Amino acid sequence: MKIKHLLFLISVMVLLNGCAPTPLTVELYPTTSPSTNATPVIVDRYVLNTISKKFHLPSCRWANKIKEENRKLSTADREELLAEQYSPCGDCKP
Ligand SMILES: [Zn+2]
Repeated sequence: MKIKHLLFLISVMVLLNGCAPTPLTVELYPTTSPSTNATPVIVDRYVLNTISKKFHLPSCRWANKIKEENRKLSTADREELLAEQYSPCGDCKP
């Protein structure tokens, strides 16, 4: 009888522990942490001119002058762009 009671208690505890992460993640999901963390990652770091092979900061005045067909937004970092033969703009110095 005593062992049965103990087993029952353990299974209840396992059930409770098993359920615990679900309300926790549900509670965390609508909060800002996943969305605010994701936003800066999605934001384009550089604007590329695929013809002149230059890259600019999105705030650069030249970035807005690149023709739509030559403009490419990139989330790659500086080193990756340099490896792709892109050179940093001398004006915005990305
Ligand atoms: Zn620039």
